[in-house]
Amino acid sequence: MASEFMAYLDKSKAIGNALALIHWDMSTGAPPGGIPARAKTFGILAEEQFTLAVSGKMQEFLQAPQEGLDELERVSMRESQKFYDSWKNIPPEDIGKYNELLGNSQSVWEKAKAESDFASFAPALEQIIQWQRRFATLRGVSGNPYDALLDDYESGMTTEKLDAFFSQLKKTIVPLVQEISEKGKKFDASFAKRPVPAETQKKISKLLMDRLGFDFKCGMIRESVHPFTTNFSKGDVRITTNYHENDFLSSFYSVLHETGHALYEQNIGDEVAETILGKGASMSIHESQSRFYENVIGRSREFWESVYGSVIALLGKEFSDVTAEDLYFASNQAKPSLIRIESDELTYSLHIMVRYEMEKEIIINGRPVAELPALWNEKMREYLGLTPPDDAHGILQDVHWSQGSFGYFPSYALGNAYAAQFLHFMKKDIPVFELVKKGDLKPITQWLTSKIHMHGALKTPEEIVVGATGEPLDASYFTNYLESKFRAICLQ
Ligand SMILES: [Zn+2]
Repeated sequence: MASEFMAYLDKSKAIGNALALIHWDMSTGAPPGGIPARAKTFGILAEEQFTLAVSGKMQEFLQAPQEGLDELERVSMRESQKFYDSWKNIPPEDIGKYNELLGNSQSVWEKAKAESDFASFAPALEQIIQWQRRFATLRGVSGNPYDALLDDYESGMTTEKLDAFFSQLKKTIVPLVQEISEKGKKFDASFAKRPVPAETQKKISKLLMDRLGFDFKCGMIRESVHPFTTNFSKGDVRITTNYHENDFLSSFYSVLHETGHALYEQNIGDEVAETILGKGASMSIHESQSRFYENVIGRSREFWESVYGSVIALLGKEFSDVTAEDLYFASNQAKPSLIRIESDELTYSLHIMVRYEMEKEIIINGRPVAELPALWNEKMREYLGLTPPDDAHGILQDVHWSQGSFGYFPSYALGNAYAAQFLHFMKKDIPVFELVKKGDLKPITQWLTSKIHMHGALKTPEEIVVGATGEPLDASYFTNYLESKFRAICLQ
């Protein structure tokens, strides 16, 4: 029975891979003429995958005697049960229609963003939100429908817990940003806007991925509007970036970020990798890994010292006056900005708070779509003191809502907090920044692999963090990290 069950789950995994491949193709240059047909395929496959998860056959597996299961089977059973219980009242054809809508929406969003035209995206967004609210109702979510969405990305997460988490971050970050803006040191980082051709930036991407230990036999990099990572097995993990000629640091940090995600996938244990548990423990644990490499490692002085020579050699003589220290400061300019993915480590979480507040308004309070751009701008003023000049630099900047990913954004801020906690305890075991300075990241990745990566989704986020650090998530590791790093950079 157990092996029959695992074989049944393999079908779901196979359909998931096909969906991920279509999504990859859609995002990396498939011709626009094929959008409606691809969206239809996407809808049909998503419906098939969903049907497997809520079918009578699945119910039989879940009701069968469960003795003698190994850990992999037991956790797979538990996860399947959780999904079944939550989604069994949703008709599969709704999932098909919804996913067809999503298949079309991403390109609608891309065009709307390029033209900074929210009105052209509004009808698709309106429909996505209606579906989200309908699913929350059918799933029998009592009280707060946003909690159901949060739980999809981070098991056990609630609005109540996040309100407390964000208010703790806010207490440290808002006054620190204020202090820095009043009396922080001023750096001239204008050199970072000098043009760097995409061809040069591609070489830098390769250099960074090699440095982090990305296995090119088991992965590749392409370009897309919004950088992301996807995988079909641990032997095929793909990332994307987006090259901006006048801002090479944008892709630099996207590549470090996505490579962090990719290392997680490439290092999942063999016995788990090809099952439905061959993925991250949760979105926020996944984000903790991307942010660990992007920020903790990639925005450290030691990292810049170690890659400086190779990066400057690629950038060429236009950058010969730039020092490692200049690059370090340019990567850590703590000041409010409009674009989340280009923001610094200190103000980043404020961008997440804006989205968290928006999603609560949309999902809990049913705020009309037409009011969202103005609401976005109001929240940006409240949290970052800035007003976006247009919607491309405001509400249209992120891909997530066009993919129906409501409840996802908080994972980024939780990921930052997990990353800081992992660093605190990793430093007790190995000399982290001495290794970074030497360019030897292997022991760091080994530490993360043994405590996090290898387990895939066999463990819950809570089990992962307690296993790695001996404690549940505690946001003060992150706030302490920010205080000490940014006081040293900006205020001393
Ligand atoms: Zn990420």
